[in-house]
Amino acid sequence: MFNKVLIANRGEIAVRAIRACRELGIKTVAIYSEADKNSLHVELADEAICIGPPNPSESYLDIPRIMSALEVSKADAVYPGYGFLSENPKFAEIVERSGAKFIGPPSEVLRKIGDKVYAKKVAKKAGLPLVPGSEDPVDFAEAIRVAQEIGYPVVIKAAAGGGGRGIRIIHNEKELREKFPVAQKEAETAFGDGRLYVEKYIINPKHIEFQVVADEKGNVICLGERECSIQRRHQKLIEESPSTALSEEKRKEICARVADFCKELGYTSIGTLEFLMDEEGNFYFMEMNGRIQVEHPVTEMITGIDLVKAQILAAAGEEVKFGEVRRNGWAIEFRINAEDPDTFMPSPGIIDRLVLPGGPGVRVDTHIYQGYAIPPYYDSLIAKIIVWGRTREEAIARAKRALRETIIEGKNLRTNIEFHLKVLNHKEFIEGKHDITFVDRMMV
Ligand code: ADP
Ligand code: ADP
Ligand code: MG
Repeated sequence: MFNKVLIANRGEIAVRAIRACRELGIKTVAIYSEADKNSLHVELADEAICIGPPNPSESYLDIPRIMSALEVSKADAVYPGYGFLSENPKFAEIVERSGAKFIGPPSEVLRKIGDKVYAKKVAKKAGLPLVPGSEDPVDFAEAIRVAQEIGYPVVIKAAAGGGGRGIRIIHNEKELREKFPVAQKEAETAFGDGRLYVEKYIINPKHIEFQVVADEKGNVICLGERECSIQRRHQKLIEESPSTALSEEKRKEICARVADFCKELGYTSIGTLEFLMDEEGNFYFMEMNGRIQVEHPVTEMITGIDLVKAQILAAAGEEVKFGEVRRNGWAIEFRINAEDPDTFMPSPGIIDRLVLPGGPGVRVDTHIYQGYAIPPYYDSLIAKIIVWGRTREEAIARAKRALRETIIEGKNLRTNIEFHLKVLNHKEFIEGKHDITFVDRMMV
């Protein structure tokens, strides 16, 4: 087992990782930027090292600075979280070469799944259904040919994309001609990789993803699904498990193929396979995320399994087994963002008054506290409120109660709590019929 883990992240996920380490008896090292010196993860960790200025490129994304902190602290493993360097195979490889353990899949596996086109090839081999589209990255002429073949609308995506960026919906050839070069340039700038691929645009689908846990001893366990259809700009806002749209039979079928996919890849660690489900109930594999997912708590709430601990144990080479996995009740997560609820623009500021919800079936994962100044440099996620109920109905009632209890106030500070309440009162959501176009339709 590890002696000391360096947490290469910030915010709520850094706090989450410190909690898991502490329960496992592992010491922790926080790294932080100058903007985060008063952050909760810095206070909670056993040690903390300031690694640079607020700008992520000079701190949380700066590999040499993080490696120096690793060396100075003598930590024997690195916890990457989500975002930042969590899916960066170069970083994983540098950590491995240093002799420390990257708490995630091996760097070469991370490299393979980070290439969405490659991941789709492995998925095909494992018998997973794919979104129809190009089998390889395409140039301009091929893009036009493939789009013609599968029919408009299509989406063009960056092979190295992530975080909802690098995705464009294209309705006709004229639009494709206009946007392809722009998208290529953008992918080059944002991901350092201009390769694009084409996919059929699935009409009104649900986003449904499956959580896996795989250790180095060959155990691969699929913990079922999360539905994440409530999204804005391809980024998730509300996630739940189970999904209203899945039968036990379908769940078992996909879980079995998900396990095959992981075995085919040699995947070890926790990870998530993302799918779209169309109106006829057909599933299409989109991508795999080889890291902890923001919405992992909903799976934890219905299975009682600590996914971050499982991730750390798997990285330490331990056997990760849970016996019979029982899914119990319903869990829903709400991402609380410091942002304008109408425009979704970030809204940083100082928290003057904070009341977080509690009571039965309510969990809050956050790094904020009263007096905390939300820095403007990072993601607008400031808390996750997760509720559990024996039924979906109970979970929804509890969610409304918990969100109404929540007070996050400060000058000029706005959050999306009202947005969540609006969703909870919407007929389509209550009936579980919502798809990924729900937020756009609701906002007009
Ligand atoms: P999840 O897939 O866990 O639901 P998201 O797709 O919302 O998570 O992304 C997780 C976090 O990481 C978000 O804060 C998002 O902004 C960030 N993120 C993900 N991928 C990238 C990327 N390639 N570049 C920058 N930020 C990213
Ligand atoms: P990222 O790596 O940024 O998370 P994904 O490939 O997972 O990108 O896609 C993010 C979101 O974009 C999906 O959850 C879905 O809402 C939408 N999306 C992606 N591909 C398609 C598609 N082929 N048809 C319709 N919507 C799509
Ligand atoms: Mg995705």
